[in-house]
Amino acid sequence: IEIMNAGPINYKVKLPSGERYTFIKSTLSARNLYTVCEEAHCPNIAECWESGTATFMIMGSNCSRGCRFCAVTHGRMLPLDPMEPEKVYESVKMMNLDYVVITSVDRDDLPDKGSSHFAAVIRRLKDLKIKIEVLIPDFSGVHKFIDKIIDERPDVIAHNIETVRRLTKTVRDPRAGYDQSLNVLRYVKSRSNIITKSSIMLGLGETDDEVIETLHDLHDAGVDIVTIGQYLRPTKKQLEVKEYSPMERFKNLEESAYSIGFSFVASGPLVRTSYRAAEAFVKGGFK
Ligand code: SF4
Ligand code: SF4
Repeated sequence: IEIMNAGPINYKVKLPSGERYTFIKSTLSARNLYTVCEEAHCPNIAECWESGTATFMIMGSNCSRGCRFCAVTHGRMLPLDPMEPEKVYESVKMMNLDYVVITSVDRDDLPDKGSSHFAAVIRRLKDLKIKIEVLIPDFSGVHKFIDKIIDERPDVIAHNIETVRRLTKTVRDPRAGYDQSLNVLRYVKSRSNIITKSSIMLGLGETDDEVIETLHDLHDAGVDIVTIGQYLRPTKKQLEVKEYSPMERFKNLEESAYSIGFSFVASGPLVRTSYRAAEAFVKGGFK
Protein backbone atom coordinates (compact mmCIF):
# COMPACT_ATOMS: atom_id res chain seq x y z
CA ILE A 1 0.00 0.00 0.00
CA GLU A 2 1.01 3.59 -0.43
CA ILE A 3 1.06 6.16 2.35
CA MET A 4 -1.38 8.78 1.17
CA ASN A 5 0.06 11.85 2.88
CA ALA A 6 3.68 11.13 2.06
CA GLY A 7 4.07 13.97 -0.44
CA PRO A 8 6.09 13.47 -3.55
CA ILE A 9 7.85 10.36 -2.35
CA ASN A 10 6.22 6.94 -2.66
CA TYR A 11 6.79 5.15 0.59
CA LYS A 12 5.67 1.58 -0.06
CA VAL A 13 4.87 -0.83 2.75
CA LYS A 14 3.64 -4.42 3.00
CA LEU A 15 -0.14 -4.83 3.09
CA PRO A 16 -1.17 -6.00 6.58
CA SER A 17 -1.73 -9.76 6.36
CA GLY A 18 -0.23 -12.99 7.64
CA GLU A 19 -1.31 -15.47 10.28
CA ARG A 20 0.21 -13.73 13.27
CA TYR A 21 -1.07 -10.31 12.19
CA THR A 22 -4.61 -11.66 11.79
CA PHE A 23 -4.46 -13.41 15.15
CA ILE A 24 -3.28 -10.29 16.96
CA LYS A 25 -5.91 -8.14 15.27
CA SER A 26 -8.74 -10.43 16.34
CA THR A 27 -7.36 -10.76 19.90
CA LEU A 28 -7.33 -6.99 20.29
CA SER A 29 -10.76 -6.30 18.88
CA ALA A 30 -12.27 -9.06 21.04
CA ARG A 31 -10.92 -7.29 24.15
CA ASN A 32 -11.42 -3.69 23.18
CA LEU A 33 -7.73 -2.94 23.50
CA TYR A 34 -5.83 -0.29 21.65
CA THR A 35 -2.32 -0.30 20.28
CA VAL A 36 -0.42 2.70 19.00
CA CYS A 37 0.24 0.58 15.93
CA GLU A 38 -3.45 0.71 14.98
CA GLU A 39 -4.43 4.07 16.42
CA ALA A 40 -1.62 5.91 14.68
CA HIS A 41 -2.20 3.94 11.45
CA CYS A 42 1.45 3.04 11.68
CA PRO A 43 2.73 1.97 8.26
CA ASN A 44 4.92 -0.74 9.80
CA ILE A 45 2.09 -2.70 11.38
CA ALA A 46 2.38 -5.80 9.19
CA GLU A 47 6.13 -6.05 9.64
CA CYS A 48 6.08 -5.43 13.41
CA TRP A 49 3.15 -7.67 14.30
CA GLU A 50 4.41 -10.51 12.11
CA SER A 51 7.74 -10.31 13.91
CA GLY A 52 6.07 -10.34 17.35
CA THR A 53 6.40 -6.67 18.38
CA ALA A 54 3.56 -4.29 19.28
CA THR A 55 3.23 -0.96 21.08
CA PHE A 56 0.56 -0.30 23.72
CA MET A 57 -0.49 3.15 24.81
CA ILE A 58 -1.46 3.37 28.49
CA MET A 59 -2.96 5.97 30.85
CA GLY A 60 -5.82 6.90 28.55
CA SER A 61 -6.34 8.29 25.10
CA ASN A 62 -6.21 12.00 26.04
CA CYS A 63 -2.92 13.77 26.59
CA SER A 64 -2.42 16.69 28.97
CA ARG A 65 0.00 18.24 26.47
CA GLY A 66 -0.51 19.41 22.92
CA CYS A 67 2.59 18.92 20.80
CA ARG A 68 2.03 20.42 17.38
CA PHE A 69 3.05 17.34 15.39
CA CYS A 70 0.96 14.86 17.34
CA ALA A 71 -2.58 13.67 16.65
CA VAL A 72 -3.33 12.34 20.14
CA THR A 73 -6.39 14.08 21.59
CA HIS A 74 -5.68 16.94 23.93
CA GLY A 75 -8.59 17.20 26.30
CA ARG A 76 -10.38 16.23 29.45
CA MET A 77 -8.24 13.87 31.49
CA LEU A 78 -9.98 10.74 32.75
CA PRO A 79 -9.08 8.77 35.89
CA LEU A 80 -6.56 5.97 35.43
CA ASP A 81 -7.94 2.46 35.03
CA PRO A 82 -6.64 0.40 37.99
CA MET A 83 -7.18 -2.76 35.93
CA GLU A 84 -4.93 -1.56 33.14
CA PRO A 85 -1.78 -3.45 34.25
CA GLU A 86 -3.79 -6.69 34.25
CA LYS A 87 -5.46 -5.95 30.91
CA VAL A 88 -2.17 -5.19 29.19
CA TYR A 89 -0.64 -8.31 30.74
CA GLU A 90 -3.47 -10.54 29.49
CA SER A 91 -3.29 -9.09 25.98
CA VAL A 92 0.46 -9.37 25.64
CA LYS A 93 0.22 -12.95 26.86
CA MET A 94 -2.55 -13.83 24.40
CA MET A 95 -0.76 -12.12 21.54
CA ASN A 96 2.28 -14.24 22.29
CA LEU A 97 4.59 -11.28 21.73
CA ASP A 98 8.35 -11.56 22.06
CA TYR A 99 8.90 -7.87 22.52
CA VAL A 100 6.47 -5.34 23.89
CA VAL A 101 6.72 -1.56 23.82
CA ILE A 102 4.71 0.41 26.36
CA THR A 103 4.17 4.11 25.90
CA SER A 104 1.75 6.61 27.33
CA VAL A 105 0.20 9.99 27.01
CA ASP A 106 1.53 12.68 29.37
CA ARG A 107 -0.41 13.00 32.61
CA ASP A 108 0.62 16.38 34.00
CA ASP A 109 -2.75 16.41 35.80
CA LEU A 110 -1.68 13.65 38.22
CA PRO A 111 0.45 14.35 41.32
CA ASP A 112 3.10 11.78 40.27
CA LYS A 113 2.53 12.41 36.53
CA GLY A 114 1.36 8.79 36.21
CA SER A 115 4.76 7.31 37.05
CA SER A 116 3.45 4.80 39.66
CA HIS A 117 0.81 3.52 37.25
CA PHE A 118 3.37 3.18 34.44
CA ALA A 119 5.64 1.29 36.84
CA ALA A 120 2.77 -1.04 37.82
CA VAL A 121 2.25 -2.00 34.16
CA ILE A 122 5.96 -2.88 33.76
CA ARG A 123 5.90 -4.87 37.03
CA ARG A 124 2.95 -6.96 35.85
CA LEU A 125 4.56 -7.65 32.46
CA LYS A 126 7.78 -8.84 34.10
CA ASP A 127 6.09 -12.21 34.76
CA LEU A 128 6.03 -12.90 31.04
CA LYS A 129 9.82 -12.95 30.71
CA ILE A 130 9.77 -11.13 27.38
CA LYS A 131 11.69 -8.02 26.44
CA ILE A 132 10.03 -4.83 27.66
CA GLU A 133 10.75 -1.44 26.15
CA VAL A 134 9.15 1.68 27.59
CA LEU A 135 8.80 4.98 25.79
CA ILE A 136 8.29 7.36 28.68
CA PRO A 137 7.12 10.95 29.07
CA ASP A 138 9.57 13.36 30.72
CA PHE A 139 7.63 13.22 34.04
CA SER A 140 8.51 16.93 34.18
CA GLY A 141 12.12 15.87 34.76
CA VAL A 142 11.40 14.91 38.40
CA HIS A 143 13.95 12.28 39.45
CA LYS A 144 11.76 10.48 41.98
CA PHE A 145 9.17 9.83 39.24
CA ILE A 146 11.77 8.62 36.74
CA ASP A 147 13.18 6.39 39.51
CA LYS A 148 9.89 4.50 39.66
CA ILE A 149 10.43 3.40 36.05
CA ILE A 150 14.14 2.61 36.49
CA ASP A 151 13.39 0.52 39.59
CA GLU A 152 11.18 -1.85 37.54
CA ARG A 153 14.20 -2.63 35.30
CA PRO A 154 12.65 -2.61 31.83
CA ASP A 155 15.08 -3.72 29.11
CA VAL A 156 15.01 -0.41 27.24
CA ILE A 157 14.00 3.07 28.35
CA ALA A 158 13.22 5.40 25.45
CA HIS A 159 12.40 9.07 25.60
CA ASN A 160 12.10 11.10 22.43
CA ILE A 161 13.92 14.35 21.78
CA GLU A 162 11.64 14.63 18.67
CA THR A 163 13.43 17.52 16.96
CA VAL A 164 16.49 19.76 17.01
CA ARG A 165 17.07 22.41 19.68
CA ARG A 166 16.01 25.41 17.54
CA LEU A 167 12.64 23.89 16.59
CA THR A 168 11.68 22.47 19.98
CA LYS A 169 9.53 25.45 20.99
CA THR A 170 7.59 25.39 17.72
CA VAL A 171 7.14 21.63 17.55
CA ARG A 172 6.64 20.43 21.13
CA ASP A 173 4.35 21.48 23.97
CA PRO A 174 5.83 24.36 26.01
CA ARG A 175 6.10 22.06 29.03
CA ALA A 176 8.54 19.84 27.12
CA GLY A 177 12.10 21.00 26.60
CA TYR A 178 15.19 20.01 24.66
CA ASP A 179 17.42 20.08 27.75
CA GLN A 180 14.74 18.51 29.91
CA SER A 181 14.57 15.53 27.55
CA LEU A 182 18.37 15.21 27.45
CA ASN A 183 18.42 15.35 31.25
CA VAL A 184 15.84 12.54 31.52
CA LEU A 185 17.98 10.31 29.30
CA ARG A 186 21.19 11.28 31.10
CA TYR A 187 19.60 10.60 34.48
CA VAL A 188 18.45 7.09 33.46
CA LYS A 189 22.00 6.24 32.38
CA SER A 190 23.55 7.74 35.50
CA ARG A 191 21.36 5.56 37.71
CA SER A 192 21.38 2.28 35.78
CA ASN A 193 22.88 0.32 32.90
CA ILE A 194 19.48 0.10 31.17
CA ILE A 195 19.68 0.64 27.40
CA THR A 196 18.45 4.09 26.40
CA LYS A 197 16.96 5.19 23.14
CA SER A 198 15.65 8.36 21.48
CA SER A 199 14.07 9.46 18.20
CA ILE A 200 14.25 12.43 15.89
CA MET A 201 11.81 13.36 13.12
CA LEU A 202 13.00 14.91 9.87
CA GLY A 203 10.88 17.20 7.75
CA LEU A 204 10.18 20.07 10.13
CA GLY A 205 12.74 22.48 8.72
CA GLU A 206 15.87 21.25 10.49
CA THR A 207 19.29 21.33 8.79
CA ASP A 208 21.67 18.38 8.68
CA ASP A 209 24.11 20.26 10.91
CA GLU A 210 21.38 20.73 13.50
CA VAL A 211 20.47 17.02 13.37
CA ILE A 212 24.13 16.10 13.83
CA GLU A 213 24.37 18.46 16.81
CA THR A 214 21.32 16.71 18.31
CA LEU A 215 22.92 13.32 17.68
CA HIS A 216 26.02 14.50 19.56
CA ASP A 217 23.86 15.80 22.42
CA LEU A 218 22.06 12.44 22.66
CA HIS A 219 25.29 10.51 22.56
CA ASP A 220 26.78 12.76 25.26
CA ALA A 221 23.69 11.97 27.36
CA GLY A 222 24.62 8.27 27.12
CA VAL A 223 21.94 7.25 24.63
CA ASP A 224 22.63 3.84 23.03
CA ILE A 225 20.05 3.61 20.23
CA VAL A 226 18.76 6.34 17.97
CA THR A 227 16.01 6.27 15.36
CA ILE A 228 15.50 8.86 12.62
CA GLY A 229 12.21 8.99 10.70
CA GLN A 230 10.19 11.25 8.43
CA TYR A 231 7.48 13.43 9.98
CA LEU A 232 4.17 12.76 8.23
CA ARG A 233 1.41 15.22 9.00
CA PRO A 234 -1.39 13.21 10.66
CA THR A 235 -4.20 15.68 9.83
CA LYS A 236 -4.52 19.28 8.67
CA LYS A 237 -4.52 20.41 12.33
CA GLN A 238 -0.86 19.52 12.82
CA LEU A 239 2.28 21.24 11.51
CA GLU A 240 2.93 21.14 7.81
CA VAL A 241 5.72 18.97 6.46
CA LYS A 242 8.53 21.28 5.40
CA GLU A 243 10.45 18.67 3.46
CA TYR A 244 10.25 15.03 2.45
CA SER A 245 13.78 13.76 2.83
CA PRO A 246 15.24 11.52 0.16
CA MET A 247 16.60 8.13 1.17
CA GLU A 248 20.13 9.45 0.72
CA ARG A 249 19.66 11.92 3.59
CA PHE A 250 18.55 9.11 5.91
CA LYS A 251 21.53 6.99 4.83
CA ASN A 252 24.00 9.85 5.40
CA LEU A 253 22.59 10.63 8.83
CA GLU A 254 22.67 6.93 9.71
CA GLU A 255 26.38 6.86 8.85
CA SER A 256 27.00 10.01 10.89
CA ALA A 257 25.16 8.52 13.87
CA TYR A 258 27.22 5.33 13.73
CA SER A 259 30.42 7.34 13.50
CA ILE A 260 29.35 9.37 16.56
CA GLY A 261 29.21 6.05 18.40
CA PHE A 262 25.61 4.79 18.78
CA SER A 263 25.25 1.02 19.17
CA PHE A 264 22.28 0.83 16.80
CA VAL A 265 20.73 3.29 14.38
CA ALA A 266 17.47 2.92 12.43
CA SER A 267 17.07 5.66 9.84
CA GLY A 268 14.48 5.78 7.08
CA PRO A 269 11.25 7.50 6.05
CA LEU A 270 8.94 5.11 7.90
CA VAL A 271 11.12 4.52 10.93
CA ARG A 272 9.33 5.10 14.23
CA THR A 273 10.71 4.80 17.77
CA SER A 274 9.54 1.22 18.13
CA TYR A 275 10.26 0.17 14.54
CA ARG A 276 12.42 -2.97 14.51
CA ALA A 277 12.78 -2.55 18.25
CA ALA A 278 13.64 -6.19 18.85
CA GLU A 279 16.27 -6.11 16.12
CA ALA A 280 17.76 -2.89 17.51
CA PHE A 281 18.04 -4.66 20.84
CA VAL A 282 19.87 -7.66 19.44
CA LYS A 283 21.99 -5.88 16.82
CA GLY A 284 22.98 -3.19 19.29
CA GLY A 285 24.81 -6.00 21.05
CA PHE A 286 22.38 -6.29 23.96
CA LYS A 287 20.99 -9.60 25.20
FE1 SF4 B 1 3.60 -0.55 16.26
FE2 SF4 B 1 5.87 0.83 16.61
FE3 SF4 B 1 5.77 -1.15 14.86
FE4 SF4 B 1 4.49 1.10 14.35
S1 SF4 B 1 6.71 0.86 14.50
S2 SF4 B 1 3.67 -0.98 14.08
S3 SF4 B 1 3.81 1.67 16.40
S4 SF4 B 1 5.50 -1.38 17.07
FE1 SF4 C 1 1.55 13.64 21.73
FE2 SF4 C 1 3.34 12.83 23.55
FE3 SF4 C 1 3.09 15.43 22.94
FE4 SF4 C 1 1.16 14.16 24.29
S1 SF4 C 1 3.28 14.55 24.99
S2 SF4 C 1 0.88 15.58 22.61
S3 SF4 C 1 1.21 12.13 23.34
S4 SF4 C 1 3.81 13.77 21.57
